[in-house]
Amino acid sequence: MQIGCHLSSSKGYLEMGKCAVSIGATTFAFFTRNPRGGTAKEIKKDDVEAYLKYAEEHNIKKIVAHAPYTLNLCSADANVRRFANRILIDDLKRMEYTPNQYYNFHPGSHGKQGTEIGIEQISEALNSALKPEQTTTVLLETMAGKGTEVGRNFEELRAIIDRVELKDKIGVCFDTCHVWDGGYDIVNNLDGVLENFDKIIGLKYLCAVHLNDSMNPLDSHKDRHHKIGQGYIGLESIIRIINHESLRNLPFILETPNELDGYAAEISLLRSNYKI
Ligand code: FE
Ligand code: FE
Ligand code: ZN
Repeated sequence: MQIGCHLSSSKGYLEMGKCAVSIGATTFAFFTRNPRGGTAKEIKKDDVEAYLKYAEEHNIKKIVAHAPYTLNLCSADANVRRFANRILIDDLKRMEYTPNQYYNFHPGSHGKQGTEIGIEQISEALNSALKPEQTTTVLLETMAGKGTEVGRNFEELRAIIDRVELKDKIGVCFDTCHVWDGGYDIVNNLDGVLENFDKIIGLKYLCAVHLNDSMNPLDSHKDRHHKIGQGYIGLESIIRIINHESLRNLPFILETPNELDGYAAEISLLRSNYKI
């Protein structure tokens, strides 16, 4: 089972790898730069090399990097959009230091522009950033539908993918808190939700899972993550999620409100409930 959590990137790749292993993780996520955007730390070649060797020895196959929260490819403000485009391009360059990994981002918030314009702007930005030679897969995250978020349902993600030229460079990250808050009943009808995902987007695009409980009921559009088993999704449903045949081999990233010891406990709880 590939499971891990968000880690601090302040000490570099090798330290993230070691931290992951220390809490029983075999994958992890990190912000490519400060979650609020801004400049990124320089990547050190020897750190990356040491990390890649360490990852191989410790069975870490995929990392799921996360773009800063402020990255908004469909902002109503053209300056914000330009800034986001630049960050996307720069982050994708940086991702190539660790080949064949995932880079996840929030599609964006369209402001008052409307979903259709938002979808156009996001896909245009992707078309100018994605390169045939890149090894990174860029993941669109399923969103809770807070405010004017794009990606509030499977159809909106499909509409973006439809417009992306290099479709083999794109995938989806399924955030359990977000889809639940977005109105998909993964508690009572997980099979149905995933069938719907397959019909609208296609399971071949499903690359990673953000595994979170939710502080709010179905369809609340709130996006407040809870610890595993303590929210409205509940442990029983989360155990069904990690064992589901369409999800069980994907990397699971915890984004629950925890410190490292809390993550270690959740990882061991989930491992002990993963059917081999
Ligand atoms: Fe996210
Ligand atoms: Fe998430
Ligand atoms: Zn969230």
